[in-house]
Order: sequence, then structure tokens, then C-alpha cells
Amino acid sequence: MSDTKHKDRMASKKAVMDRKIANATEERGVLILLKGNGKGKSSSAFGTMLRSLGHGKKCVVIQFIKGRTETGEYKFFKDSPLVDWHIMGHGFTWETQDKEQDIAAAKKAWALAEKLLQDETIDMLVFDEMSYMFKYKYLEVQPVVEALQNRPKNQNVIITGRTMALELQAIADTISIVQDERHAFRLGVKAQQGIEF
Ligand code: ATP
Ligand code: MG
Repeated sequence: MSDTKHKDRMASKKAVMDRKIANATEERGVLILLKGNGKGKSSSAFGTMLRSLGHGKKCVVIQFIKGRTETGEYKFFKDSPLVDWHIMGHGFTWETQDKEQDIAAAKKAWALAEKLLQDETIDMLVFDEMSYMFKYKYLEVQPVVEALQNRPKNQNVIITGRTMALELQAIADTISIVQDERHAFRLGVKAQQGIEF
């Protein structure tokens, strides 16, 4: 491509972008859903949280399903004065035997989440693996939708999980699908520290 052609193309791209920026004037918190079968949902949520923390914002994580306790992210963030980290679930759902115990844990996690959704001092909430609570019917989705809609105006919320309740998708501002194209696990690579946990 010639230099002039490239310049023209960039100028028209800039004009389009400038118009879009001029149109996006609202200032408020957003609800972000990270779904899909690929690797990168929770780590993206914590990456965004890191961005907020860099600006001194207060963040709270609730993990609705307990994977490994001592994940790198937990070990890293737990000492931050700006972060509260709650691991609420009991192991992976497919490993648990006790449904009643799972439901009790889900309800307890939701009670905390609901309180935080009314707390203006919290800038960002990460509800990690929350989507399974609706899939397995451990929690009702409607009260969650209502609490999300009534949360403080500038509060950001990120929810992760492979499948997402349609009711949540209906009210979300940003939805990203992490698609599984390939995963090292299927090539026989063991889950490793610093990558998986
Ligand atoms: P991560 O925490 O790495 O961002 P994730 O949140 O997108 O992953 P989950 O569905 O929560 O993925 O799965 C948790 C664990 O399973 C992680 O250790 C992740 O590396 C692994 N994993 C994610 N996707 C796949 C996949 N398609 N095949 C095998 N393992 C996966
Ligand atoms: Mg995850």
C-alpha cells in the first residue's frame, strides 16, 4: 500500500473512532460476563481487577466454586489492603457428593455478594464461577438480576463461568466468549503452577 493510501485509510479510521468516542459519554459501572469453554475467563477477570487496583480501587472476589485453595492469584492478592478474597464453595462440583452442603455454601456466598452489591465503597466485584450456581440450580437467578440492577451506579461487576444464565446476559454491558480452540491438557500436558493455578 502506498504511503498516501495508508494515511487516508488511517485518517478515515480515526474519524470513525472519534465519532464513537464522542458518542460514548455515559459514566457508570458495567456488568461484564466472561463465558465459554476456552481458557482465560478467570485470569481475564483478575487481570482487569489488577487494572482497577493500580488505580487504588477497592475490589472483592467471591469464588463460588473452590478449585485449588492456594492459587497464585489468591496468594498474590490476599495481602493487598485493597482486596478482600472469599473462597466460598466446596471443591469442584463434579467432585462433591453432598448437594445440600453445596447449596448451603452457595446461599452463604450469595448473602455476602448481595451485601457487597449495596456497598458503595466497593469499586469492583468479581464473582468467579458464579454461573454454575444457576446451572445447577443452587441459586435463583432473579434475585441476582435485581441486586445487580440496583447496585451502586459506579460499581463494576465481573462474572465468570463456562455457561451463563440468559437472564444475566440480558442485563450485561459487556459479554466476551472465550472460545476453546486448543488446550494443552488435551495434548497430555499436566496442569501447572503459574498457568492453571
Ligand atoms: P483460567 O483460570 O486459566 O483463566 P478459566 O477460568 O477460563 O481458566 P475454567 O473453566 O474456570 O477456566 O477452568 C478452570 C481450570 O481449567 C483452569 O485451570 C484452566 O486452565 C483449565 N481449563 C480451562 N479451559 C480448559 C479447557 N478447554 N480444557 C482443559 N482445561 C481447561
Ligand atoms: Mg475460571
